[in-house]
Amino acid sequence: MDCIFCKIVAGEIPSNKVYEDEKILVFKDINPCAPVHNVIIPKEHILSCADDITEDNVDIIAYIFTKIPHIAKLSGLEDGYRIVNNCGENGAQTVKHIHFHLIGGEKLSEKLN
Ligand code: AMP
Ligand code: ZN
Repeated sequence: MDCIFCKIVAGEIPSNKVYEDEKILVFKDINPCAPVHNVIIPKEHILSCADDITEDNVDIIAYIFTKIPHIAKLSGLEDGYRIVNNCGENGAQTVKHIHFHLIGGEKLSEKLN
């Protein structure tokens, strides 16, 4: 499959790993928008939040959220952070493998964009 994030999972494209277990991978964003900017992905390919989360795969999304506090701690984000999901064309989703941006390391703007 021609998916950058699947290739990262497979080790075909290098990444700067922050956390990995059997279900998810977290790596540093190649183009960070804040002092800390990590990308959290399920290892299984799910396209986006739009129509692709089903009863069969929703457990991995819940799993990601149970792991976020640990990943945030590993990332040095004790004072808070932002989780962002870009979804679809108008949501500016550029990689079509569902992912959550974990952003922080400074006081973020109250405005989202
Ligand atoms: P989005 O725009 O929400 O689809 O986010 C995709 C994110 O993946 C962007 O912030 C990119 O900078 C990041 N990205 C794309 N390719 C790579 C890569 N090879 N390694 C790390 N981050 C990447
Ligand atoms: Zn993929």
